[in-house]
Amino acid sequence: MAKRPNARLLELPLLQNWSCHNCGGCCKKHLIEITEAERQRIDSQGWNAAELPEGLPPYVPLGRTSEGRYRLSQRADGACVFLTDEGLCRIHAKFGEPAKPLPCRLYPYVFHPTGKGLVVGLRYSCPSVIRNAGRDLVSQQDDLKQLAQETIADWPEEIPAPRLSDRSPGAWPLVDVLIAALLDELQQRDVPLRLRLVRMAAWTELISTTNLTDLTVAQLRETIRVVRETVAQLLPDEQTVMVAPADRLTLVGFTQLVAYYTREDTIVDQSKGWAGRWKLLQDILVYTFRRGRLPDLATDWKGIPIRDVEQALPWKTPAADELLTRYVVTKLQSRAFFGPAYYHEPVIEGFWSLLLTIPVTIWLARWHALARWQTQARRQNAGPDITSEPCSIQAVDLEAALARVDHNHGYSQALGMRSVKSRLRSFVRRDQLTSLIWDITRES
Ligand code: SF4
Repeated sequence: MAKRPNARLLELPLLQNWSCHNCGGCCKKHLIEITEAERQRIDSQGWNAAELPEGLPPYVPLGRTSEGRYRLSQRADGACVFLTDEGLCRIHAKFGEPAKPLPCRLYPYVFHPTGKGLVVGLRYSCPSVIRNAGRDLVSQQDDLKQLAQETIADWPEEIPAPRLSDRSPGAWPLVDVLIAALLDELQQRDVPLRLRLVRMAAWTELISTTNLTDLTVAQLRETIRVVRETVAQLLPDEQTVMVAPADRLTLVGFTQLVAYYTREDTIVDQSKGWAGRWKLLQDILVYTFRRGRLPDLATDWKGIPIRDVEQALPWKTPAADELLTRYVVTKLQSRAFFGPAYYHEPVIEGFWSLLLTIPVTIWLARWHALARWQTQARRQNAGPDITSEPCSIQAVDLEAALARVDHNHGYSQALGMRSVKSRLRSFVRRDQLTSLIWDITRES
């Protein structure tokens, strides 16, 4: 009989460090559903209205149609009722870390099955993950094993392998071969990131056209090796690569995809009612017609026309390469891009969605860079037209963009919609995936 995934077989992302720096960001962005046992534990902690902000109760019903389910209360600005002004958790401060609900103790970790055991991933919506700041994960292995045991307590005994592609049913050993080849391609740091991404898109497109399940592990490895070599010959370097520009239909589909990545869907957003929905409709029109001013997202994403964001900006630095490569490597190593971790997509189709997060991040980073540049110019009392420093994407822009992207990737209901999945397949069917990646990641 198959065994339950065993926390002793815990694999860790190799490039990643993390410790919490108490910025409080996660406590402002997530709705935390609690179990019945957690609800009773919070009751036994004896919180009273005087201890909590705005006189809020510690928890409230999850929704009108979710009888018997509860979530932690949130303040009017969306922050958790237990978050202090210093960015600390009241439960943690008074009763210790184990007294917190499991989702709060888990974030930013995630656990996914590998077939043999479990693999740990991290969410890049946490700024400390983005900056690779803190202790290496190997030194945190004992805590991670404990968390893993609690997280997988109600997982089924046997976790079926995901599909390899729309055409191929899956088998864990074949999934491992595919992921090993993708990681090998990504680690070729002498090849520019943009070219690595386009090559990976090209060879995965080629192998997705056949039923891979008929192959043995050795045959799949050899097939991928031959296809990769052929693609590398066809796309030898950044200067001579001939990739057709993305067509208009694809660019419209892409900007609509970007719109889904900008959504936060917090309790505050959900409570805006018709006014909120009307505003959302207006925003959708800007993305669809690619005209007008982009909707303001937060204080640092304001007042930028969409046409300006569609113009390329310089972004390629060793730090940008390191961050974006580490992001994709972590997602691959942690199997966070297919199956239940990614809207039940097959491995290859899930990988294409992961690839698209890079152009989406660059696009959003341009927006952030332009808004930052405008603000700086105003502060210096000079209009943006006469500022001496040309605008370019800096680390701060990429980090803000990637945090927003990973907050949604695999978690936003909108990105799991059938229409979004079919749009991705339409990009591939019309040979537009490589064009899109090439186009959006260009520099001015
Ligand atoms: S977002 Fe990250 S660093 Fe900030 S409080 Fe949450 S876990 Fe800690």
